[in-house]
Amino acid sequence: MKRTRNTVQRRAVLEAVKALGNAGMHPTAADVYAQVRLHCPQLSLATVYRALHALVEQREIGETRIENVARYDASPDPHHHVICRACGAVADVFAELPPVAVRRLSAASDFVLDTQAIHFNGLCPTCQPQQPSQRPASSTPRTPSGASAGAA
Ligand SMILES: [Zn+2]
Ligand SMILES: [Zn+2]
Repeated sequence: MKRTRNTVQRRAVLEAVKALGNAGMHPTAADVYAQVRLHCPQLSLATVYRALHALVEQREIGETRIENVARYDASPDPHHHVICRACGAVADVFAELPPVAVRRLSAASDFVLDTQAIHFNGLCPTCQPQQPSQRPASSTPRTPSGASAGAA
């Protein structure tokens, strides 16, 4: 029946969002579509969109907009995001901001701020410039960080 098929499709889409989330991604609908088709090649993009909307409404997954593109989030719980301005990596931050900080930002901007999901821009660990002066003095051998950062 229709209801059963919808459930199966939604589950496939949910699993795709979770798999991409586990890989550290906040996938776009197109990313989810590509992932779903690995297992369910018969699903259409329209079906994936419908399933994503339904999953967001049911709070099975989260949705956030980054650079005006909808991104889907394996975690439906409120959290902030840090976004690397060099490589575009997006990471979750489950940290509570002091309410006074949010009030000050709101007062200074005349915006009503969505305090549940704030985006911060910065540089991820991979993109941060190496700072020799902060090299830890311990003798613990560390993976050379230049190894994988070469040709991106
Ligand atoms: Zn980066
Ligand atoms: Zn997130």
